[in-house]
Amino acid sequence: MDYMQSVEAVKHQLEMKREAGLSIGFVPTMGAIHEGHLRLLDICLGGCDVAVTSIFVNPLQFNNPEDYKKYPSTLDRDRALLESRGCHILFHPTYQEVYPEEDNTQYDFGPLEQVMEGRHRPGHFNGVAVVVKRLFDIIQPHKAYFGEKDFQQLLVVQELVRMFDLKIDIVPCPIVREADGLAMSSRNLRLSGTERKTAGKINRILQRAVERSTSMELRKLKAHVLEEFQREKDIRIEYVEFASTKDLQILDKWPQGQEVIICIAAYVGQIRLIDNMRFFSTFAE
Ligand code: AMP
Repeated sequence: MDYMQSVEAVKHQLEMKREAGLSIGFVPTMGAIHEGHLRLLDICLGGCDVAVTSIFVNPLQFNNPEDYKKYPSTLDRDRALLESRGCHILFHPTYQEVYPEEDNTQYDFGPLEQVMEGRHRPGHFNGVAVVVKRLFDIIQPHKAYFGEKDFQQLLVVQELVRMFDLKIDIVPCPIVREADGLAMSSRNLRLSGTERKTAGKINRILQRAVERSTSMELRKLKAHVLEEFQREKDIRIEYVEFASTKDLQILDKWPQGQEVIICIAAYVGQIRLIDNMRFFSTFAE
């Protein structure tokens, strides 16, 4: 695996690969690599000749400075994991390399950024869009791989690609979970032992919600799910929403024959976690 920090070097290397007719796959991450990231890499390796993973903790997308400061960093381990999993290039730029000058672009993702993560983390998706656009310009991948764990981010990136008419295939990848159902996340490293156990309950509440969606009106189910979270005194729920997977607009009735996603954000201790599940409701209301 090549380890590169310079934009010029990675551009040059990838230019040669493209000229040789090889396809470039890209997995952007913020490091503290876990199995969720590695599964994206597996899918990338299955779909492209050259797999590039980036590690860059982008300050622009953190609306909470404390979260940025404490974001886990495990570079030596990350390098070993990526290499053993077959990654070809690890791009690990400095802030200066990514932003040689300030990028103040203001994107407008319309209603997509006015709900859930967009509403609760002001500026977050703008920061995501700025860095993803910059990384896309550097790597110029044929395909880029994003996890459905960050479902709203996935739709924002798809919109970004449409906005600029980029010739990049955005490949959504399924959520990878721990044995107890907790969605893998770099932030899980910051949970204490008891917090980690508590966090496992999030998935069980979501699963029960999906099961109950066949026999309950949406509004009732939402109130019920909120109650379940509120009963867990070590979980502080920020939001529970049911939305259409097409555009993430909030639903208050089950749509017939259309896919629904339940999305939540919750704090366990100081750590903010998000999760979601997709399903079809068969309940007619
Ligand atoms: P992050 O390093 O958290 O910015 O994540 C980098 C990429 O990995 C994003 O596309 C995430 O959606 C994806 N990802 C993170 N955790 C998971 C997971 N548990 N399952 C699937 N994809 C994930």
